[in-house]
Amino acid sequence: MSLSCQAPKPCDCHCTEPAESLAEKGARLAARLEQSVRDFLVATDQNLGNIELELERQSQGLCRAAAEQAAQKKADATPPLCPVCRQALSRLSAGHERTVKTRFGDVTIRRTRGYCKRCQKWRVPADTVLGLEDTGSSSPRVQEMAALLASKMPVEEASQVLEHLTGVRMPRPTLHREAQRQGQRARQLRRKLDEQAKAAGAGPHPELVLEPYQMIVQMDAWNIRERDGWGQTKRLRQQGQEPPRWHWVYTGTCFRLDHRGQTEGGRPVISERGFVATREGIDGLREQLHAEALRRGLGQAAGALVIADGAVWIWRLADDRFPQARQRLDYYHAVQHLAAVGRALLGEDGQKLEQWLGPLRRQLKKEGSVKVIAHLEELLSCLPVGPAAQTVAKEVNYLHEHAQRMDYRQARKRGEPIGSGAVQSTCRQTQCRFKRPGQYWSSQGDEALLCLDMFWRNNRWSLLFPHRSTDWSRN
Ligand SMILES: [Zn+2]
Repeated sequence: MSLSCQAPKPCDCHCTEPAESLAEKGARLAARLEQSVRDFLVATDQNLGNIELELERQSQGLCRAAAEQAAQKKADATPPLCPVCRQALSRLSAGHERTVKTRFGDVTIRRTRGYCKRCQKWRVPADTVLGLEDTGSSSPRVQEMAALLASKMPVEEASQVLEHLTGVRMPRPTLHREAQRQGQRARQLRRKLDEQAKAAGAGPHPELVLEPYQMIVQMDAWNIRERDGWGQTKRLRQQGQEPPRWHWVYTGTCFRLDHRGQTEGGRPVISERGFVATREGIDGLREQLHAEALRRGLGQAAGALVIADGAVWIWRLADDRFPQARQRLDYYHAVQHLAAVGRALLGEDGQKLEQWLGPLRRQLKKEGSVKVIAHLEELLSCLPVGPAAQTVAKEVNYLHEHAQRMDYRQARKRGEPIGSGAVQSTCRQTQCRFKRPGQYWSSQGDEALLCLDMFWRNNRWSLLFPHRSTDWSRN
C-alpha cells in the first residue's frame, strides 16, 4: 500500500480547517488535563477542590461538542413523521436552526420541519425526540435543574446556586419561566396519572396481599399569600372590599401502617409515603389524595383510617372519598380543647392548669373520651351561668361531636398513630419554601411549583423527566 493511499480525501466543502473529531478533541483535552495535574502538584496553595473545578472547566468544551454532535445525529436520524399522529409530514424543509441551552453550554442544531395535514400544524419531529419543548430554549437536563431548584428555593437564589454549582447561566426571569413551564407540564401529567389510578382502582385487584395492612390518611391546610389582581388593591378598597390575599393550601399524606418504623436512633420514620399539596381547593385535594391513596395501596388495604384536626371540611371529604375509613381526631388537638376548658375554669396559671389537665389528658389517652366528657359535664352542671359556663358548654359540645373519633385506647392497642403529626410536618416543610417573608404568589404560579415539589417528594420525578429513569440516585 502506497503512502498516498493513506492521505485523507480532500474536503468537499469550502471550509479552510477540517472539523476536529471528538477523538482528536479528546486527545487534546487529555494532554491539557495532564498539564493541569502537573500544575496542581506544584501548587502549594491548592487542594482537591481546585483541581476539581479546573477539570470541570477544561472538559466542558468537549462535553458540549459531544452533546451537539449527539443532538445533531439524532435529529438527522429522525424520520419525518408527525410526533402526535405519526402521519408522514409534507412540505419538508431542512436546516432549521435552533440553539439550546444544555448542561455544558449552548448547542445549535439544524432540524427538518414539515406540515402535518391531519393535525393541520407545522411539526419539527426532532424536537420531540430530543425532549425540547415548543417554547423555551432549555435542554431536558436544564429544564429539570430549573424545576428542581425553583421548587426548593426562591428563584433569585436558585439562579445563583445553579450558576455556582454547574456553570449554567440562567437569569432570574428565564429560570422563573422555565420552572413555571415545567410546573404546568407536571400538572397535566398529574391529572393523567390520577385518572389512571382511579381507573385501575375501580377494577379488580388480582395482586395477592400477604400481610393485611391498614392505610393511614391525614389532612390539614395552611395559608399562602397571593397577589392576583395586581394593581386593583386601591379600587377594591374604595369599593369597601379587602382584596383576598391569604388562601388555603390543602395538604394530605397517606401511608401503610406497616411502613411506619423507627431509625436505629429511635426517630420515627415512614419508609414509603404519598404526599399531596394543592391550591386547587378542597375538590382538588379530594381527587388528588384519593388517587394518591389508591396508588399507595388503598384498594388492597384491610382497612383505612383518617386522622386530622376538627375542621368540618376534612370529615366531609373523608365521608365522601374514604367512606369505609375509620376517623380519628388528632389527640393533641383534643387536648387543646380540654385546655380551653381548664383556662375557663382556672385562668392562665400554668401550674394549676397543668395539675388539672394532666390526669384528664392521661385518661383520654388510656381510656378514651367517655369518662372525660362525663367529668366535664359534671363540672358544667355546678357552674353558675356566665362566660366560663359558656366556654365549657361549647367545648363539651365539641368533644361530644367527636366522641366516636377519640378511640385513643384502641389506637394504642393496634399500634396506630393518635396524632396527625405526619401531615403537620409535611405542611411545615412546604411552608419553608412557600411562606417566606415578603413572598407573594399567583394562584397559577404556586400551584405549578407545589406540583413539582410533590412529584419530587413522591419519588415520581423520573416520570416528569424520563432521562432520570436510568439514574442511580434517589429518583
Ligand atoms: Zn399530526
